[in-house]
Amino acid sequence: MKFYSTNNKTLAVSFKDAVFNSLPADKGLYMPEQIPQLDPLFIKNIQQYSLQEIALEVASTLLGNDIPKPDLKKIVDEAINFEAPVKFLNNSTAVLELFHGPSYAFKDFGARFMSRIMAYFSKSDDKLLDVLVATSGDTGGAVALGFLGVEGTRVTILYPKGKVSEVQELQLTTNGQNIRALEVDGTFDDCQALVKQAFNDAELNQTLRLTSANSINIARLIPQTFYYFYAYAQLRSQGINEVVFTVPSGNFGNIGAGLLAYKMGLPVKHFVAATNVNDTVPRFLASGQYAPKPSVQTLSNAMDVGDPSNWVRIQDLFAGNLAELKAMLSSYTFTDEETKAGMDRLVQDANYIACPHTAIAWLGAQAYANDHPGTYASVFLSTAHPCKFPDAIDADVFAKIVLPAGAEALQGKEKLAEPLAVNFEAFKRYLINHN
Ligand SMILES: *Cc1c(COP(=O)(O)O)cnc(C)c1O
Repeated sequence: MKFYSTNNKTLAVSFKDAVFNSLPADKGLYMPEQIPQLDPLFIKNIQQYSLQEIALEVASTLLGNDIPKPDLKKIVDEAINFEAPVKFLNNSTAVLELFHGPSYAFKDFGARFMSRIMAYFSKSDDKLLDVLVATSGDTGGAVALGFLGVEGTRVTILYPKGKVSEVQELQLTTNGQNIRALEVDGTFDDCQALVKQAFNDAELNQTLRLTSANSINIARLIPQTFYYFYAYAQLRSQGINEVVFTVPSGNFGNIGAGLLAYKMGLPVKHFVAATNVNDTVPRFLASGQYAPKPSVQTLSNAMDVGDPSNWVRIQDLFAGNLAELKAMLSSYTFTDEETKAGMDRLVQDANYIACPHTAIAWLGAQAYANDHPGTYASVFLSTAHPCKFPDAIDADVFAKIVLPAGAEALQGKEKLAEPLAVNFEAFKRYLINHN
């Protein structure tokens, strides 16, 4: 499969080039040249297959001959080595839990798959692949744990001192092996600027083989299609054929992958994008005008995006046809107050403790069901485990959270982070001296 830039469809590159470049030079995003259809017989019998079997079928349909199937199977089996269960909260509403991977967030799907794809394509290189990543929390943990122990790779994470939660910091700083953490005395934007400068530094690029673990990398989008198929498989095994997915959305990669799955032949009745007050897409769907705004800080901070990068991919999937897009996609937006109330109601009504992002998805699912009653299953996506967000959850509720097994073990581990000032020369020296 070749991948074109959303800005120029005539310039197609190989999967490998799309993975290592992350972004085409014209600042578009990579998309598959065609949307291949899954075998209808596979969809018909999908309830027979495991998550890993579904992932292999979907990935090999999308990638064609880019990676021989036995190699792709190994990548999929290693990357997607955790579950994604659909759990019903009542007769019609279910949650698709995507936080059973090592960083307790759905970004594990993308990060783990991408790390192994990068390692696969780097096998014959003699230089280490140096991944630089700036994080405000969730992405860094997924990338660190995604690359942990992956041969031929090394990760350097920059995170803002004092601005990530305890679980997040432990996930970034307790790994050792091929993962290094730099605790930057500055903001997330400072971290991002340092990483950007490193990619533009000639000397660094000569000494090291640098790459980014950018969230818009096509190798992160592809594995996010897997769990939509798998959720549908789980519903089918219960005799359910109709599903509406509600996705808590920030940069719109997750829901973009859902829409890609739909275009590949997954029978989905409708998608709902649920956002916090960063409502550029809901405003677009209402007015037809795409008017991005600077992002606003909210409780659901992984969704604080004012100009969602992946929106161009969704436009591309629908070839700019707004009517067709609106027939498949609705959206709702919620304030922090509504998010908090939603989290409380989920505990009261369903005894379910959700992170703020997940609560927004549930609110979106409720709003859509109110506007469009029917017999479909309403499945909302849980993108992170609530234990990652102590500041957003009432202390008495937080105390009742059952920690995942690994989170307990994290507490006793030693923090390994080097302090770093917001100073590019100091960052560069670190990278060169610790090569
Ligand atoms: C990244 C993230 C989101 C938003 O996903 P997008 O693909 O950017 O729309 C939602 N919830 C959590 C917990 C996240 O980490």
